[in-house]
Amino acid sequence: MDFEDTPELAEFRREVRAWLDANAERRSDALYMGMEGEQAYREAKQWYLDKARAGFASLTWPKEYGGAGLTALHEVVWTQEVANYRTRDGYFVIGIGNCGPAIMHFADEDARRELLPRMASAEDVWCQLFSEPSAGSDVAGLRTRAERDGDNWIVNGQKIWTSGAQYSDYGVVLTRTDPDVSKYAGLTMFMIDMRQEGVEVRPIKQADGGQHFNEVFFNDAVIPDNYRLGEVGGGWSGALAVLMSERLAISGIQPTGFPQFLGMVRSLQLDGEPVAQDPLVRERLATWYSQYAGLQAANKRMITAVAKGGFAGAEASLGKLVGAVMNQEIANFSCQLFGQAGIVQDEQLSPERAHFQGSVLSSPSVRLAGGTDEVMRNIIAEQVLGMPQEPRADKGMAFKDIPTGPEPG
Ligand SMILES: Cc1cc2nc3c(=O)[nH]c(=O)nc-3n(C[C@H](O)[C@H](O)[C@H](O)COP(=O)(O)OP(=O)(O)OC[C@H]3O[C@@H](n4cnc5c(N)ncnc54)[C@H](O)[C@@H]3O)c2cc1C
Repeated sequence: MDFEDTPELAEFRREVRAWLDANAERRSDALYMGMEGEQAYREAKQWYLDKARAGFASLTWPKEYGGAGLTALHEVVWTQEVANYRTRDGYFVIGIGNCGPAIMHFADEDARRELLPRMASAEDVWCQLFSEPSAGSDVAGLRTRAERDGDNWIVNGQKIWTSGAQYSDYGVVLTRTDPDVSKYAGLTMFMIDMRQEGVEVRPIKQADGGQHFNEVFFNDAVIPDNYRLGEVGGGWSGALAVLMSERLAISGIQPTGFPQFLGMVRSLQLDGEPVAQDPLVRERLATWYSQYAGLQAANKRMITAVAKGGFAGAEASLGKLVGAVMNQEIANFSCQLFGQAGIVQDEQLSPERAHFQGSVLSSPSVRLAGGTDEVMRNIIAEQVLGMPQEPRADKGMAFKDIPTGPEPG
């Protein structure tokens, strides 16, 4: 594992710090209580535009596609440094982190040159339209249909949990184009214009008060064939590429809650005593520190592998699994520690500006997004431990023959 910057990376780190010092506010505390909604969206667009102008957008993308043409290690340095500032860096990660690489790989050259620079600077915002009401973990079981009509495809069906769809100009959508072959073989992936008639976006209200994701309905929405990503029937390999990019993109911003917990333990007094002296708090701190340190080491190993031209492998799944569980446990423990104040949501009245209260409501979703705990465990079991694959009852069946529940009504 490599822990030290090369001279080139050290110089890049200095440049990044200088630009961030001039363009962003340092975090004066461990918490960033971000605003959500329209204002957050506008701030994020401006932030991405500023980054693009300064040459720090999509660092690993080629310059002709709006990136900086740098290496994965430059990206790591940026991620480490930006974590010390209040920015909107993670806001468009689904579009740029997940859809971008798929477009780079599968779209034709004209589409890449037209769409990727506008994505990198957030002039256009993108979403990822995979999950459906009956196809989440088993996303290959999706039912949204795309039917060929001359040079176009006509799309009908429903997606759900589509993050940021309400702000999106475009999406990458996975559809079923052939129900007569196996569920994997009958999928095709496209780019879709989200602003057209025939695309209806309905935001979903979350437990924490936010409206982060949406239902999306397609009623005869039109996609030109040159917006197809890959071969007809080749959507599953495209989807895997997107999901692999997603795991990598998430691993850079995966919340663990540990830095916030450490900040709280260092500064908080309850009933006149520093919480750091409470034996239970000390025991939890030690446990979570060891998990956090383990994750940092696994992350460094992953970065070293990527830097040497390898793949992130299952470490990204490990980071997602351990980090998401820790994040939720820390939120629940902290709110119990606060006693009655643990249920106060008001930022001005609550310890640590209600960070942990907010996290109690939002942290469960982190365990689902980008693959649930169980799915991560399956990946680790099969790809790291070499255990046998899960039995698949639909193996070798045409999609249309897979038994489903009774039709409603
Ligand atoms: C915050 C958030 C943002 C999201 N953003 C997007 C987005 O932008 N675009 C998008 O397409 N989707 C998005 N999703 C959807 C996400 O990908 C799915 O929620 C996730 O894949 C799980 O699918 P599901 O909700 O249908 O649950 P299901 O797949 O129905 O799972 C239900 C339960 O069954 C378990 N389970 C399922 N299969 C297995 C198995 N084989 N072995 C053991 N247990 C299993 C699961 O672990 C879970 O506990 C988002 C979700 C969240 C929470």
